Amino acid sequence: MTQHFDILIVGAGSAGSVLASRLSEDSSLSIGLIEAGGWPDDPDIAKPAMWPLLQGRSYDWCHETAPQPHTADRKHPWPRGRLVGGSSCLHAMAHVRGHPNDFDAWVAAGGDGWSFDALLPYFKRSERFSGGADDYHGADGPLDVLLPAIGLNPVTQAYIAASEAIGIEPSGDHNGARIEGAVPNSLTVRDGERLSVADAYLPSDVIGRTNLTILTNVLVDRLHIERNRATGLMAHTERASEVITADRIVLSAGAVASPMILMRSGIGDPVDLARQDIACAIDNPAVGDNLHDHLLAAGNVYRARRAVPPSNYQLSESLLYHGGGGSGPPRVVVACVVVPVVTEEFTAPEVGGAYTLMFGVCHPRSRGRLTLTSADPRAKPVIDPAYLSEPEDRSTFREALDLARSVGHAAPMDDWRAEELLPGPSMQEPSAIDQFIARAAMTHHHPVGTCRMGPVGDGVVDGSLKLHGLDNVFVVDASVIPTITSGPINAAIVAMAERAADVLKAS
Ligand SMILES: Cc1cc2nc3c(=O)[nH]c(=O)nc-3n(C[C@H](O)[C@H](O)[C@H](O)COP(=O)(O)OP(=O)(O)OC[C@H]3O[C@@H](n4cnc5c(N)ncnc54)[C@H](O)[C@@H]3O)c2cc1C
Repeated sequence: MTQHFDILIVGAGSAGSVLASRLSEDSSLSIGLIEAGGWPDDPDIAKPAMWPLLQGRSYDWCHETAPQPHTADRKHPWPRGRLVGGSSCLHAMAHVRGHPNDFDAWVAAGGDGWSFDALLPYFKRSERFSGGADDYHGADGPLDVLLPAIGLNPVTQAYIAASEAIGIEPSGDHNGARIEGAVPNSLTVRDGERLSVADAYLPSDVIGRTNLTILTNVLVDRLHIERNRATGLMAHTERASEVITADRIVLSAGAVASPMILMRSGIGDPVDLARQDIACAIDNPAVGDNLHDHLLAAGNVYRARRAVPPSNYQLSESLLYHGGGGSGPPRVVVACVVVPVVTEEFTAPEVGGAYTLMFGVCHPRSRGRLTLTSADPRAKPVIDPAYLSEPEDRSTFREALDLARSVGHAAPMDDWRAEELLPGPSMQEPSAIDQFIARAAMTHHHPVGTCRMGPVGDGVVDGSLKLHGLDNVFVVDASVIPTITSGPINAAIVAMAERAADVLKAS
């Protein structure tokens, strides 16, 4: 028998978990949540310091980019979670909302409801802040946000002092009055363990609601479209294919998969669709376009004078944002990681013998594109983020390395620094530094923008996140972000989904 829901959500990741939880609070609504992966069953997911080692496991989609001309023709691995909790089961747990002005681009694309001030109540509603409620924070929400007060690695403590020594006032709290400056990272951690968005929003009492059905190991292929509505979607399990119908459908499959589902449904650039023999139902070249991401270079690596103790948290213990000229959004970021981190282009020193200052650009200008390679839902896409294709991104990246080196060589690091290993003190020429950055850059894991908010003719969804051209399809996930925020994006996605749930409940 065909299953039918009032609202069907595709993808149980960060956004999908919030939506399923909030929408099923209304017992008059029947809610379906479809997830391609299963429930998490790997105990390593809960251990914060294990996060880099989860990549490549069975619950990672294991995407990779096309060769990138401006990063030495390298293909970059793009891990994405394929399980309940989505990428929040793989992520590094840093909780950073961004600078208030980051959301001006969201307002320009989708209206006043996306301003920082309008989203602040949703940020607060989502979180249970370790410092308690105040003007910036909530303390009663589902998502624990820990601002570590103790147990910080001594290298991280020296790093924060070093940033102050070069004249950058510590932030105090990236999610408080000022993002600029260094501070221990706020973490989505509860009782020392990772708290995925699903852990937070889908506890057993929510899962047990009679109006919420969670279907796991079900791969969504495409929408069934009749005139200006989707009547349902085609989905596949290992053994069968079925049509699931719904009054409203919300795609929350993430920045890679949501545009792919739309393209397989015939919504996209007609030329790209024709290449895969997909009939065009809605001509919209913005689907898959505007792909962008943060990069971090790994890194400005230092050999330590003495053994670096293991991290009590998730290795990357402090982000330093800088360059906003006092009150504007930061231009560059430097992350203190208490282990050596390098790309496949370099040989890593021993853990315990080195530490890394990773560095990157907060507001990259480079924009790429995601396209299908086949109409088969199991096929990988072509992911081309066009990393560092804009010259400004390359020059800002050099600024970021300058900042990392200034902090790394400041007096409070003297006790820890034996020598700069990478790129090495002799490397000072801009062209040599560009070449180093091309080999050292890796994703910060924040792809966005492939179903961007924007008016008809420019975007994929409107300000209520409704798809242009269909009256009952919405997209709520990283893909609708028109322009990336200054830092990690999970906090903004959770707040976006909180607001979207209110909009969907009210309509
Ligand atoms: C290694 C790593 C480190 C990161 N570190 C941080 C960090 O420290 N801080 C931060 O803020 N952000 C971080 N991020 C980014 C953050 O986790 C993501 O941006 C966020 O989780 C994206 O949420 P989403 O809802 O858009 O998509 P996801 O959470 O990726 O959810 C999409 C869901 O849809 C499912 N799905 C996809 N296709 C289909 C289909 N066809 N049918 C059915 N289901 C489907 C997927 O399996 C997945 O569960 C990191 C990400 C990674 C991978």
